[in-house]
Amino acid sequence: MTLAPFIRKLRGPLRRLRETRMFAQALRSARHPILAHIVPTRRCNLACSYCNEYDHASQPVATEEMLRRVDQLAALGTSIITASGGEPLLHPELDRIIARIHQHRIIATVITNGYLLTPERIRRLNRAGLHQLQISIDNLLPDDVSKKSLKVLDQKLRWLAAHAEFDVSINAVVGAGIGNPQDAVTIARRASELGFTVTAGVVHDDSGQLKPVSEPVRAALDQVLNMRKPLFSFVRYDRFQYNLVRGLPNEWQCRAGSRYLYICENGLVHWCSQQRGYPGIPLARYTAADLEREYRSAKSCAPYCTINCVQKTALMDELRENPRETILHVLSPPEQRLDPAQLPLSVRMLTGIFLHPRRGRWFSQMAERLLKLK
Ligand code: SF4
Ligand code: SF4
Repeated sequence: MTLAPFIRKLRGPLRRLRETRMFAQALRSARHPILAHIVPTRRCNLACSYCNEYDHASQPVATEEMLRRVDQLAALGTSIITASGGEPLLHPELDRIIARIHQHRIIATVITNGYLLTPERIRRLNRAGLHQLQISIDNLLPDDVSKKSLKVLDQKLRWLAAHAEFDVSINAVVGAGIGNPQDAVTIARRASELGFTVTAGVVHDDSGQLKPVSEPVRAALDQVLNMRKPLFSFVRYDRFQYNLVRGLPNEWQCRAGSRYLYICENGLVHWCSQQRGYPGIPLARYTAADLEREYRSAKSCAPYCTINCVQKTALMDELRENPRETILHVLSPPEQRLDPAQLPLSVRMLTGIFLHPRRGRWFSQMAERLLKLK
């Protein structure tokens, strides 16, 4: 038994404060990226059949170059930087990159397939100041579609439970090509048992669009969404996913290229992993004018987009621009839209005070000042 689970719990409120600060910054101003994905290597040690984000040959990006990119993202005012890939743990100095993100007081997260985790690697990530690590698990047993399986990864999850001082989030994946939809429910239960956060993901095609899903898949997704921790239970209704799995489009403004940036291994800024090439500008030359232009640029792929992290960043801007409607969006059961008058009095008062265009800015500035944490 190690002290890590105790430290993880103890530092939980500090991580929530950092997230609150990020949230306050996002509400105060739309002139900085909320989230950026960086790719320390395009190479992956697996070959999931639905994935278009890896190869088996690329070398890791030089560490000094990755550190420069982190500095450039910090200069743009980025709040969260996520290392993804390929498989980011294939980068031998990932912890140096994480440490540089942390030094800038930016939230550092990693998305990994988990295969390369060892107790020593987890301790290195602790020392670097990692905030959260996310693993997507696709099935219980490896098959031709994916080897990201609970059977293979369970030992890694136990090591994380024993040694990680950072948050761990398990994404239980459902969708076309994923064998048994109920696997996602078993995966989510195991993750909860180990004290990890649970999210649900829907597999997209190679342009980031929805693949049609069956009734059992929808039922499994609903079961996983209902399993979330009580603190977040008020956002049970992820309207984006709810609509997509029913083949319905979403009406939203994608802010990719502005509030969300995808930096490929060559250091170019793209809208997202599924829309590479737009705008395709080197990060070193990306300016406030680019952020401003992409904030409002139209994306024809938006109605059936499944990129959940970009949708979440867009929700923050909806909240700033149209608070009452967005609160309704989050609180209403999808099949029955609440009237604003049906919102609890406390919610109406809080939105009136904190999300008022002028008063809200003052409150978020105050929150940000109070929460200036390392
Ligand atoms: S582990 Fe991740 S990056 Fe690697 S092939 Fe699978 S989905 Fe793609
Ligand atoms: S809507 Fe935005 S996040 Fe989704 S695929 Fe298009 S550019 Fe990417």
